[in-house]
Amino acid sequence: MFKLIVANRFSQESLIQLKKSGLADVYTCEQISDQKEQWSNCQGLLIRSGVQVTNELLAQMPQLQVIVSATSGFDHIDLKSCQQKKITVMHTPEANAQSAAEHTMGLILATQRNYERASSQIKSGRWERGALLGEELSGKTLGLIGLGRIGSRVKKMAEAFNLDVLVHDPYVEQKNFPQTKFFGFEEVVRKSDIVSFHVPLTSETYHMIKASTLEWFHESATLINASRGDVICFSSLLNHLIENPQFRLGLDVFAAEPLDKSSALLDHSQIFFTPHIGATTRQAIARASLEAVEKILLFIQSQKTSDTLPPNTLWAQKLLL
Ligand code: NAD
Repeated sequence: MFKLIVANRFSQESLIQLKKSGLADVYTCEQISDQKEQWSNCQGLLIRSGVQVTNELLAQMPQLQVIVSATSGFDHIDLKSCQQKKITVMHTPEANAQSAAEHTMGLILATQRNYERASSQIKSGRWERGALLGEELSGKTLGLIGLGRIGSRVKKMAEAFNLDVLVHDPYVEQKNFPQTKFFGFEEVVRKSDIVSFHVPLTSETYHMIKASTLEWFHESATLINASRGDVICFSSLLNHLIENPQFRLGLDVFAAEPLDKSSALLDHSQIFFTPHIGATTRQAIARASLEAVEKILLFIQSQKTSDTLPPNTLWAQKLLL
């Protein structure tokens, strides 16, 4: 029987489906280290982002054939080592796109309508509406960097708010998006009131936001990042925030997570923070769990694969593996 370790949280429904299939001996655990005695004969791994798949871990799993991560991101997996060891890696990139897009809209609204200060005012017994003057979204310009699964959903939602949406994505076929206004990166940033990132972390997107590109934003612009923390050079950002007190940010992701309690970012009231919860909804977790289970069962039955990693796209050649 196929030996499978399921590490991290998976939905009950998906675990029932897995066990019902009768195709695998299943070992479940919260931490992969809790199943050390199973490593040497483990053939498959079902994980979420809490499990770091390092070369050291792989070295202790000589039988491993397949990893399925119930996530969209894949920074937690050493793909190069997996390639060298001919281990198939798959993920579930569609499962959380809607949740991440909805959260992006939440970050946009929170930054434009001062939700954090408004809530803490009431909690501290104050009612000072004058101090909470917000910005209407309708008629503003939103720049989207990346028009993939999440970016394209954000575009639709933003258009429903009557935002004018501009897009920078050098890798999509523009003819497939006839109603879309494409521009270069600099032009999108210069023309936008709000700029939101929906890109993978690659050698091109690493520190796409740095001192020289921060200069392109107008002084009261807003930057939203729910993609990957390293898209922003945080030291440049800190200087920019000091010089531009009207500049605002909505951040769900950070270069190092969890964000350190002593991070200088926390000194800036212009930033609205969330702790990487773009995909943290019951629905996204349930969908990702089920999809991951379906993928591993299909692999066990027929060696069929889908959503393999690294992705089969042009930008994947720029991944930081
Ligand atoms: P996707 O692969 O569907 O889309 C990414 C898009 O970025 C593609 O259209 C690609 O062409 C474009 N792109 C690549 N390089 C680019 C560049 N240099 N400039 C502009 N565009 C570029 O990915 P997705 O599912 O939409 O996810 C986007 C990002 O969001 C990823 O980094 C993912 O890890 C992250 N994410 C975060 C959360 C969260 O909880 N905050 C949840 C899900 C995904």
